[in-house]
Amino acid sequence: MSGGATQLRARAARLRELLREALQAAFRLVPWPTEPGLRAVGAPGPFSPVIVTGNYDLTVRRVMRALRGVDAWLVVAPSNGINVWCAASGGMFTTHQVVTALKTCGIEDRVKHRRAILPQLAATGVQAREVARRCGWRLRFGPVYAQDLPRYLAGDQKKTDAMRRVRFGVAERLEMAAAWAAPAALVVAAGAALVKPAFAPGLVALAVILATTCFLVYDRIPEPRRLLFGVAAVAAALAGVALAGGETPALLTAAAGGAALTALLTFDYSGSTPTEGGSHFEERSWHIVLDRERCRGVYSCWEVCPEACFEKRPNLHTVDLAHDGRCIRCGACVVQCPMDALAFEDAEGRRVEPDAIRRFKLNLLGRRAVDAGSPGAGAVAEPPEAP
Ligand code: SF4
Ligand code: SF4
Repeated sequence: MSGGATQLRARAARLRELLREALQAAFRLVPWPTEPGLRAVGAPGPFSPVIVTGNYDLTVRRVMRALRGVDAWLVVAPSNGINVWCAASGGMFTTHQVVTALKTCGIEDRVKHRRAILPQLAATGVQAREVARRCGWRLRFGPVYAQDLPRYLAGDQKKTDAMRRVRFGVAERLEMAAAWAAPAALVVAAGAALVKPAFAPGLVALAVILATTCFLVYDRIPEPRRLLFGVAAVAAALAGVALAGGETPALLTAAAGGAALTALLTFDYSGSTPTEGGSHFEERSWHIVLDRERCRGVYSCWEVCPEACFEKRPNLHTVDLAHDGRCIRCGACVVQCPMDALAFEDAEGRRVEPDAIRRFKLNLLGRRAVDAGSPGAGAVAEPPEAP
Protein backbone atom coordinates (compact mmCIF):
# COMPACT_ATOMS: atom_id res chain seq x y z
CA MET A 1 0.00 0.00 0.00
CA SER A 2 1.35 3.45 -0.87
CA GLY A 3 2.36 5.94 1.82
CA GLY A 4 -0.38 8.32 0.63
CA ALA A 5 -3.10 5.71 1.11
CA THR A 6 -1.79 4.85 4.58
CA GLN A 7 -1.84 8.52 5.56
CA LEU A 8 -5.37 8.86 4.24
CA ARG A 9 -6.53 5.87 6.28
CA ALA A 10 -4.86 7.24 9.40
CA ARG A 11 -6.59 10.58 8.89
CA ALA A 12 -9.96 8.90 8.35
CA ALA A 13 -9.48 6.88 11.54
CA ARG A 14 -8.59 10.04 13.47
CA LEU A 15 -11.66 11.81 12.09
CA ARG A 16 -13.88 8.88 13.09
CA GLU A 17 -12.36 9.01 16.56
CA LEU A 18 -12.99 12.76 16.86
CA LEU A 19 -16.60 12.41 15.71
CA ARG A 20 -17.21 9.59 18.16
CA GLU A 21 -15.74 11.64 20.98
CA ALA A 22 -17.81 14.70 20.05
CA LEU A 23 -20.95 12.57 19.99
CA GLN A 24 -20.13 11.03 23.34
CA ALA A 25 -19.36 14.43 24.86
CA ALA A 26 -22.63 15.86 23.53
CA PHE A 27 -24.66 12.91 24.85
CA ARG A 28 -22.64 12.11 27.93
CA LEU A 29 -25.77 12.02 30.07
CA VAL A 30 -26.41 8.52 28.71
CA PRO A 31 -24.08 5.56 29.40
CA TRP A 32 -21.43 4.72 26.78
CA PRO A 33 -20.03 1.37 27.87
CA THR A 34 -16.86 -0.18 26.53
CA GLU A 35 -15.65 -3.75 27.01
CA PRO A 36 -14.25 -4.27 30.55
CA GLY A 37 -10.94 -6.12 30.82
CA LEU A 38 -7.21 -5.63 30.64
CA ARG A 39 -5.46 -3.27 28.18
CA ALA A 40 -1.73 -2.88 27.67
CA VAL A 41 -0.57 0.70 27.20
CA GLY A 42 2.82 0.84 25.45
CA ALA A 43 4.95 -2.19 26.33
CA PRO A 44 4.24 -2.90 30.00
CA GLY A 45 6.15 -5.53 31.99
CA PRO A 46 5.80 -7.30 35.35
CA PHE A 47 6.71 -4.21 37.36
CA SER A 48 4.74 -1.65 35.35
CA PRO A 49 2.06 0.40 37.12
CA VAL A 50 -1.50 -0.92 37.14
CA ILE A 51 -4.21 1.69 36.65
CA VAL A 52 -7.89 0.94 37.20
CA THR A 53 -10.80 2.86 35.73
CA GLY A 54 -14.48 2.38 34.90
CA ASN A 55 -15.84 1.19 31.56
CA TYR A 56 -17.10 4.56 30.34
CA ASP A 57 -15.80 4.63 26.77
CA LEU A 58 -14.86 8.32 26.76
CA THR A 59 -12.86 7.97 29.99
CA VAL A 60 -11.03 4.86 28.79
CA ARG A 61 -9.98 6.55 25.57
CA ARG A 62 -8.92 9.70 27.41
CA VAL A 63 -6.86 7.68 29.89
CA MET A 64 -5.20 5.72 27.05
CA ARG A 65 -4.44 9.00 25.29
CA ALA A 66 -3.07 10.62 28.46
CA LEU A 67 -0.79 7.63 28.98
CA ARG A 68 0.83 7.84 25.53
CA GLY A 69 4.55 7.29 25.99
CA VAL A 70 4.02 5.46 29.31
CA ASP A 71 4.21 1.69 29.76
CA ALA A 72 1.34 0.64 32.01
CA TRP A 73 -1.50 -1.82 32.48
CA LEU A 74 -5.04 -0.50 32.38
CA VAL A 75 -7.72 -2.52 34.13
CA VAL A 76 -11.17 -1.49 32.94
CA ALA A 77 -13.71 -2.44 35.60
CA PRO A 78 -17.45 -2.48 34.91
CA SER A 79 -19.16 0.79 35.89
CA ASN A 80 -22.31 0.44 33.77
CA GLY A 81 -20.74 2.62 31.09
CA ILE A 82 -20.84 5.64 33.41
CA ASN A 83 -18.00 8.00 34.33
CA VAL A 84 -16.02 7.21 37.47
CA TRP A 85 -17.36 9.89 39.82
CA CYS A 86 -21.02 9.38 39.02
CA ALA A 87 -20.63 5.60 39.04
CA ALA A 88 -18.71 5.57 42.34
CA SER A 89 -21.17 7.97 43.97
CA GLY A 90 -24.08 6.03 42.54
CA GLY A 91 -23.05 2.55 43.67
CA MET A 92 -22.03 1.26 40.22
CA PHE A 93 -18.27 1.44 40.67
CA THR A 94 -17.61 -0.04 44.07
CA THR A 95 -15.27 -2.29 46.01
CA HIS A 96 -16.99 -5.31 44.49
CA GLN A 97 -16.45 -4.22 40.87
CA VAL A 98 -12.79 -3.40 41.50
CA VAL A 99 -12.07 -6.68 43.33
CA THR A 100 -13.81 -8.68 40.62
CA ALA A 101 -11.94 -6.88 37.83
CA LEU A 102 -8.55 -7.34 39.51
CA LYS A 103 -9.23 -11.04 40.12
CA THR A 104 -10.62 -11.91 36.71
CA CYS A 105 -8.97 -9.72 34.06
CA GLY A 106 -5.66 -11.62 34.01
CA ILE A 107 -3.52 -8.88 35.55
CA GLU A 108 -2.39 -11.16 38.37
CA ASP A 109 -0.54 -13.34 35.84
CA ARG A 110 1.13 -10.33 34.22
CA VAL A 111 2.64 -8.44 37.14
CA LYS A 112 4.81 -9.29 40.10
CA HIS A 113 3.27 -6.76 42.47
CA ARG A 114 -0.16 -6.09 43.89
CA ARG A 115 -0.46 -2.30 43.79
CA ALA A 116 -3.03 -0.47 41.72
CA ILE A 117 -3.87 3.18 41.12
CA LEU A 118 -7.48 4.30 41.09
CA PRO A 119 -8.83 7.70 40.03
CA GLN A 120 -9.23 9.83 43.15
CA LEU A 121 -12.90 10.37 42.39
CA ALA A 122 -13.53 6.65 42.87
CA ALA A 123 -12.97 7.15 46.60
CA THR A 124 -16.66 7.79 47.25
CA GLY A 125 -17.50 4.21 46.26
CA VAL A 126 -14.41 2.00 46.44
CA GLN A 127 -13.06 1.21 49.92
CA ALA A 128 -9.31 0.75 49.63
CA ARG A 129 -9.02 -1.21 52.89
CA GLU A 130 -11.77 -3.57 51.88
CA VAL A 131 -10.15 -4.25 48.50
CA ALA A 132 -6.87 -5.11 50.27
CA ARG A 133 -8.69 -7.38 52.69
CA ARG A 134 -10.62 -9.19 49.99
CA CYS A 135 -7.96 -9.71 47.35
CA GLY A 136 -4.60 -8.49 48.61
CA TRP A 137 -4.31 -5.57 46.16
CA ARG A 138 -3.21 -2.28 47.70
CA LEU A 139 -4.93 0.72 46.18
CA ARG A 140 -3.71 4.25 45.86
CA PHE A 141 -5.95 7.07 44.79
CA GLY A 142 -4.19 8.83 41.93
CA PRO A 143 -4.91 12.25 40.46
CA VAL A 144 -8.40 13.52 39.77
CA TYR A 145 -7.69 14.07 36.07
CA ALA A 146 -6.25 11.52 33.64
CA GLN A 147 -3.97 14.10 32.02
CA ASP A 148 -2.01 14.31 35.29
CA LEU A 149 -1.22 10.58 35.30
CA PRO A 150 2.17 10.77 33.50
CA ARG A 151 3.45 13.44 35.92
CA TYR A 152 2.07 11.52 38.86
CA LEU A 153 3.79 8.31 37.73
CA ALA A 154 7.04 10.11 36.99
CA GLY A 155 6.89 11.84 40.39
CA ASP A 156 7.01 8.67 42.49
CA GLN A 157 3.21 8.52 42.66
CA LYS A 158 2.93 11.66 44.74
CA LYS A 159 0.10 14.07 44.05
CA THR A 160 0.56 17.79 43.99
CA ASP A 161 -2.19 19.89 45.57
CA ALA A 162 -3.48 20.74 42.10
CA MET A 163 -3.74 17.04 41.17
CA ARG A 164 -6.00 16.50 44.18
CA ARG A 165 -8.53 19.27 43.49
CA VAL A 166 -11.55 19.17 41.21
CA ARG A 167 -11.84 22.12 38.89
CA PHE A 168 -14.75 23.50 36.99
CA GLY A 169 -12.89 25.62 34.50
CA VAL A 170 -14.15 27.03 31.24
CA ALA A 171 -13.36 23.86 29.25
CA GLU A 172 -15.27 21.63 31.71
CA ARG A 173 -18.14 24.12 31.83
CA LEU A 174 -18.41 24.17 28.03
CA GLU A 175 -18.30 20.38 27.93
CA MET A 176 -21.21 20.16 30.38
CA ALA A 177 -23.04 22.90 28.46
CA ALA A 178 -22.73 20.79 25.30
CA ALA A 179 -23.94 17.73 27.22
CA TRP A 180 -27.14 19.57 28.18
CA ALA A 181 -27.52 21.64 25.02
CA ALA A 182 -27.59 18.59 22.73
CA PRO A 183 -30.52 16.75 24.37
CA ALA A 184 -32.33 20.06 25.08
CA ALA A 185 -31.99 21.06 21.41
CA LEU A 186 -33.34 17.67 20.35
CA VAL A 187 -36.34 17.98 22.67
CA VAL A 188 -37.31 21.48 21.49
CA ALA A 189 -36.66 20.64 17.82
CA ALA A 190 -38.92 17.58 18.10
CA GLY A 191 -41.60 19.67 19.83
CA ALA A 192 -41.39 22.39 17.17
CA ALA A 193 -41.51 19.79 14.36
CA LEU A 194 -44.86 18.59 15.74
CA VAL A 195 -46.39 22.06 16.22
CA LYS A 196 -44.64 24.59 13.96
CA PRO A 197 -41.40 23.52 12.19
CA ALA A 198 -40.47 27.15 11.43
CA PHE A 199 -39.78 27.69 15.14
CA ALA A 200 -37.24 24.83 15.31
CA PRO A 201 -34.02 26.77 14.38
CA GLY A 202 -34.81 29.59 16.82
CA LEU A 203 -35.59 27.20 19.67
CA VAL A 204 -32.46 25.15 19.02
CA ALA A 205 -30.37 28.34 19.08
CA LEU A 206 -32.13 29.31 22.33
CA ALA A 207 -31.27 25.91 23.86
CA VAL A 208 -27.60 26.22 22.91
CA ILE A 209 -27.28 29.81 24.15
CA LEU A 210 -29.10 29.09 27.41
CA ALA A 211 -27.09 25.93 28.15
CA THR A 212 -23.82 27.75 27.53
CA THR A 213 -24.84 30.74 29.64
CA CYS A 214 -26.19 28.51 32.38
CA PHE A 215 -22.95 26.54 32.82
CA LEU A 216 -20.80 29.65 32.57
CA VAL A 217 -22.61 31.80 35.12
CA TYR A 218 -25.34 29.93 37.03
CA ASP A 219 -23.28 29.21 40.16
CA ARG A 220 -22.31 32.90 40.33
CA ILE A 221 -25.90 34.16 40.39
CA PRO A 222 -27.26 35.00 43.88
CA GLU A 223 -30.29 33.12 45.25
CA PRO A 224 -33.04 32.59 44.17
CA ARG A 225 -30.89 31.93 41.15
CA ARG A 226 -33.26 29.64 39.31
CA LEU A 227 -35.90 32.36 39.31
CA LEU A 228 -33.41 35.09 38.33
CA PHE A 229 -31.90 32.95 35.58
CA GLY A 230 -35.37 32.03 34.29
CA VAL A 231 -36.54 35.66 34.20
CA ALA A 232 -33.36 36.73 32.37
CA ALA A 233 -33.68 33.83 29.90
CA VAL A 234 -37.31 34.61 29.08
CA ALA A 235 -36.58 38.35 28.79
CA ALA A 236 -33.64 37.69 26.42
CA ALA A 237 -35.72 35.29 24.31
CA LEU A 238 -38.57 37.81 24.07
CA ALA A 239 -36.18 40.66 23.19
CA GLY A 240 -34.52 38.55 20.48
CA VAL A 241 -37.86 37.61 18.91
CA ALA A 242 -39.19 41.19 19.15
CA LEU A 243 -36.04 42.59 17.50
CA ALA A 244 -36.40 40.03 14.70
CA GLY A 245 -39.96 41.29 14.13
CA GLY A 246 -41.67 38.18 15.48
CA GLU A 247 -45.38 38.34 16.14
CA THR A 248 -47.51 37.15 19.06
CA PRO A 249 -47.24 33.34 18.44
CA ALA A 250 -43.45 33.61 18.16
CA LEU A 251 -43.27 35.76 21.32
CA LEU A 252 -45.43 33.28 23.24
CA THR A 253 -43.27 30.38 22.04
CA ALA A 254 -40.09 32.22 23.08
CA ALA A 255 -41.50 32.88 26.57
CA ALA A 256 -42.66 29.28 27.02
CA GLY A 257 -39.45 27.90 25.48
CA GLY A 258 -37.25 30.07 27.72
CA ALA A 259 -39.11 28.98 30.87
CA ALA A 260 -39.18 25.29 29.92
CA LEU A 261 -35.50 25.26 28.98
CA THR A 262 -34.56 26.97 32.24
CA ALA A 263 -36.45 24.30 34.16
CA LEU A 264 -34.74 21.55 32.15
CA LEU A 265 -31.22 22.99 32.39
CA THR A 266 -31.33 23.81 36.08
CA PHE A 267 -33.18 20.66 37.16
CA ASP A 268 -29.95 18.76 37.88
CA TYR A 269 -27.44 21.58 37.68
CA SER A 270 -25.74 20.62 40.93
CA GLY A 271 -25.55 17.00 39.78
CA SER A 272 -23.79 18.10 36.60
CA THR A 273 -21.04 20.02 38.34
CA PRO A 274 -18.15 18.78 40.48
CA THR A 275 -18.38 21.73 42.84
CA GLU A 276 -21.89 21.68 44.22
CA GLY A 277 -22.29 18.34 45.86
CA GLY A 278 -24.11 16.88 42.91
CA SER A 279 -24.62 13.11 42.77
CA HIS A 280 -23.79 13.16 46.43
CA PHE A 281 -25.79 12.84 49.59
CA GLU A 282 -29.05 14.63 49.16
CA GLU A 283 -29.26 16.14 52.62
CA ARG A 284 -28.14 19.73 52.10
CA SER A 285 -28.15 20.42 55.84
CA TRP A 286 -25.45 17.84 56.60
CA HIS A 287 -21.97 18.96 57.47
CA ILE A 288 -18.76 17.04 57.95
CA VAL A 289 -17.39 16.58 61.49
CA LEU A 290 -14.07 15.25 62.77
CA ASP A 291 -13.76 13.27 66.00
CA ARG A 292 -10.20 14.17 66.93
CA GLU A 293 -10.07 11.51 69.66
CA ARG A 294 -10.33 8.80 67.01
CA CYS A 295 -8.03 10.35 64.41
CA ARG A 296 -4.63 8.68 64.09
CA GLY A 297 -3.17 10.77 61.26
CA VAL A 298 -3.53 8.20 58.48
CA TYR A 299 -4.28 11.08 56.06
CA SER A 300 -6.56 9.09 53.75
CA CYS A 301 -9.06 11.93 54.12
CA TRP A 302 -6.49 14.50 53.03
CA GLU A 303 -5.52 12.27 50.10
CA VAL A 304 -9.04 11.86 48.68
CA CYS A 305 -10.79 15.15 49.46
CA PRO A 306 -11.48 16.85 46.11
CA GLU A 307 -11.97 20.23 47.79
CA ALA A 308 -8.84 20.24 50.00
CA CYS A 309 -10.88 20.64 53.17
CA PHE A 310 -8.17 19.08 55.37
CA GLU A 311 -4.80 20.27 56.53
CA LYS A 312 -2.21 17.85 57.88
CA ARG A 313 -0.81 18.28 61.39
CA PRO A 314 2.10 15.83 61.15
CA ASN A 315 3.55 16.59 64.59
CA LEU A 316 0.26 15.69 66.25
CA HIS A 317 -0.58 12.81 63.86
CA THR A 318 -3.92 14.29 63.06
CA VAL A 319 -5.66 16.59 60.60
CA ASP A 320 -7.56 19.83 60.86
CA LEU A 321 -10.86 20.30 59.09
CA ALA A 322 -9.50 23.69 58.17
CA HIS A 323 -11.76 24.44 55.21
CA ASP A 324 -15.00 22.61 55.98
CA GLY A 325 -16.94 25.41 54.28
CA ARG A 326 -15.76 24.00 50.95
CA CYS A 327 -17.19 20.53 51.67
CA ILE A 328 -19.53 19.23 48.97
CA ARG A 329 -20.63 16.19 51.04
CA CYS A 330 -19.16 13.71 48.61
CA GLY A 331 -18.44 11.33 51.49
CA ALA A 332 -15.04 10.20 50.17
CA CYS A 333 -13.21 11.00 53.42
CA VAL A 334 -15.86 9.27 55.51
CA VAL A 335 -15.73 6.15 53.33
CA GLN A 336 -11.92 5.93 53.45
CA CYS A 337 -11.14 6.87 57.08
CA PRO A 338 -9.98 3.64 58.77
CA MET A 339 -10.69 5.02 62.24
CA ASP A 340 -14.27 6.16 61.59
CA ALA A 341 -13.12 9.57 62.78
CA LEU A 342 -15.22 11.39 60.19
CA ALA A 343 -18.97 11.51 59.89
CA PHE A 344 -21.77 13.78 58.80
CA GLU A 345 -23.96 15.63 61.25
CA ASP A 346 -27.39 16.93 60.40
CA ALA A 347 -28.80 20.32 61.32
CA GLU A 348 -30.03 18.99 64.70
CA GLY A 349 -26.57 17.69 65.57
CA ARG A 350 -27.44 14.03 64.95
CA ARG A 351 -24.46 12.01 63.74
CA VAL A 352 -24.79 9.87 60.61
CA GLU A 353 -22.43 6.98 61.20
CA PRO A 354 -19.73 6.19 58.61
CA ASP A 355 -21.10 2.70 58.04
CA ALA A 356 -24.39 4.20 56.94
CA ILE A 357 -22.52 6.38 54.46
CA ARG A 358 -20.73 3.32 53.10
CA ARG A 359 -24.10 1.56 52.74
CA PHE A 360 -26.15 3.89 50.65
CA LYS A 361 -28.68 3.56 47.89
CA LEU A 362 -29.84 5.77 45.06
CA ASN A 363 -33.21 7.39 45.26
CA LEU A 364 -35.49 7.87 42.28
CA LEU A 365 -33.70 11.08 41.28
CA GLY A 366 -30.36 9.31 41.19
CA ARG A 367 -29.14 10.99 44.38
CA ARG A 368 -27.47 9.10 47.18
CA ALA A 369 -29.85 8.66 50.05
CA VAL A 370 -28.88 6.98 53.27
CA ASP A 371 -31.42 4.38 54.22
CA ALA A 372 -31.60 5.21 57.89
CA GLY A 373 -34.23 2.58 58.48
CA SER A 374 -32.41 -0.42 57.02
CA PRO A 375 -31.72 -3.21 59.52
CA GLY A 376 -28.36 -2.80 61.22
CA ALA A 377 -27.53 0.43 59.44
CA GLY A 378 -27.41 2.38 62.69
CA ALA A 379 -27.61 5.32 60.40
CA VAL A 380 -28.54 8.24 62.54
CA ALA A 381 -27.29 8.51 66.09
CA GLU A 382 -29.16 10.81 68.44
CA PRO A 383 -27.12 13.70 69.84
CA PRO A 384 -25.89 13.26 73.39
CA GLU A 385 -28.14 14.62 76.11
CA ALA A 386 -27.35 18.15 77.14
CA PRO A 387 -25.74 18.19 80.62
S1 SF4 B 1 -9.60 11.61 59.98
FE1 SF4 B 1 -9.25 9.44 59.51
S2 SF4 B 1 -8.31 9.42 57.49
FE2 SF4 B 1 -8.14 11.52 58.27
S3 SF4 B 1 -6.13 11.59 59.24
FE3 SF4 B 1 -7.60 11.08 60.84
S4 SF4 B 1 -7.62 8.84 60.91
FE4 SF4 B 1 -6.67 9.43 58.97
S1 SF4 C 1 -14.52 16.90 53.52
FE1 SF4 C 1 -16.37 17.00 52.27
S2 SF4 C 1 -15.63 17.35 50.17
FE2 SF4 C 1 -13.89 16.62 51.38
S3 SF4 C 1 -13.91 14.39 51.06
FE3 SF4 C 1 -15.04 14.81 52.94
S4 SF4 C 1 -17.19 14.90 52.28
FE4 SF4 C 1 -15.91 15.15 50.41
